[in-house]
Amino acid sequence: MEITNNYPKVQTETPHFLILPWLAPGHLIPTTDIARLLAMHNAAVTIITTPVNAARIKPTIDRSNAASAGNISLVSLYFPATEVGLPEGCENIDLVPSMPLVYNFYEATKLFRQQVLRYIHERAPHVSCIIGGMGYVWAVDVAHELGVPCFIFHGFGSFALYCSEILHKTKAHEVPSAEPFIIPGLPFEFKIARKELPMHFQQSKENKDIGEEMRNYELAVDGVLVNSFEHLEPGYAGLLQKLSGKKVFSIGPVSVCNTKMMDMEERGNKPTVSTDRCIQWLDSKKHNSVVYVSFGSTGSFAPKQFKELGLGLLASQWPFVWVIKDIEKLPEETLIWLHENFEDKNNSRSLLIKGWAPQIAILSHPAVGGFVTHCGWNSTLESVAAGVPVVAWPLYSEQFLNVKLIVDVLKIGVSVGAREAMAFRGDKEDGIRVSKEDVVKAIEKLMTGEEERKRVAQLKEKAEMALEKGGSSFLNLESLIQFVAP
Ligand code: UDP
Repeated sequence: MEITNNYPKVQTETPHFLILPWLAPGHLIPTTDIARLLAMHNAAVTIITTPVNAARIKPTIDRSNAASAGNISLVSLYFPATEVGLPEGCENIDLVPSMPLVYNFYEATKLFRQQVLRYIHERAPHVSCIIGGMGYVWAVDVAHELGVPCFIFHGFGSFALYCSEILHKTKAHEVPSAEPFIIPGLPFEFKIARKELPMHFQQSKENKDIGEEMRNYELAVDGVLVNSFEHLEPGYAGLLQKLSGKKVFSIGPVSVCNTKMMDMEERGNKPTVSTDRCIQWLDSKKHNSVVYVSFGSTGSFAPKQFKELGLGLLASQWPFVWVIKDIEKLPEETLIWLHENFEDKNNSRSLLIKGWAPQIAILSHPAVGGFVTHCGWNSTLESVAAGVPVVAWPLYSEQFLNVKLIVDVLKIGVSVGAREAMAFRGDKEDGIRVSKEDVVKAIEKLMTGEEERKRVAQLKEKAEMALEKGGSSFLNLESLIQFVAP
């Protein structure tokens, strides 16, 4: 399907992308990489974000600008957090204290439009295109007022986006019961429950309203940017383009632009552990023997599930790196248990990281042989790019869709058996969804299996090739620039 840019020709020599990264680590991180890739392809880029988020990515942008023909401006504008009842400085979803305040946060991101508009009118008139983050539902109106195209970046892969598009079109998820239903139109049977779908498919009034605004945004944009590559999701970008009628550019895996150690270790935030210490610890382990355990930027468990996971890790025979978020939410008793069982007795078998881990630096170490992950799309891609197979433990958002691709389609991972989605930012009930035995079984299967490892090694090669000169994602980046400034 041919989709052309019918906007008036932009009067600048260099195409200028204005990027509005959605205010969540899983968006800020890949959009920073997208900015760097566009700059490497000689485009001009302006990233507009808030002070807290700008501080997180500034070191990366500075290094990128210093190292190459970099042309990225980082603009930090006031974020109206307190205006909607959020604490001052609450400028990223990982800083929102509790689930109900996520809706206030969304309201603040709407108010943020005023700052962005003012900036554009006063400072940056020659924009050729806006890349809008998933929740910035107003980005498309701003772009169209400027007479330029708008691309949305959801942070999802093509398979998940295609499934979502099918659901929007067929409403197959609108079933009366909580029972799993079949997503129609896929080349295989895929049963999923509504609870396992992204938030905007959920039933509550707030989610429905936001879902509707996001859908209108999706319908109005000119195209979709996907952090993925053709070999990882064969045919799905094409299917998505056909079904949605939107231009789809797969331009990933964008994390592979981080080839220098500094970029790998400080990505999206400052690690709370020294990377040297992690590397030294990993150096002391055999190849493919370490399990890396991390649930993204916001994934954390209530005490019972947390402990059950820990018991599973202890009962498995493999050394492990365990990244723990929201440790301050755990009770004293759990912290004592953690210290006694992991930091005292098992010092050489376990490395705990409380806070932010240098994830891609760890994943790319040859000692790492498996990744227990929530299957966030960035973590999935980063695991593939490092050639590490996964134990799939989805929590929420589109992660249950990703698991289908990882476990059943690509066969590069083993499921831990998590069926029910958790609430975003942690469960209210302190129950056990995945038992210690499930954890041990999945880790043993993954670490002793050959097939998943072989297949992910093949994909790793393809991932590198995709962004090399002439590779599919390289060419898609060129086409994107060509589309924006023909
Ligand atoms: N990440 C990291 N250190 C951490 C946790 C996460 O560097 O301690 C990065 C990770 O490499 C990935 C992103 O944060 O790029 C998380 O994105 P993902 O889509 O996997 O999950 P989300 O946080 O959006 O649920």
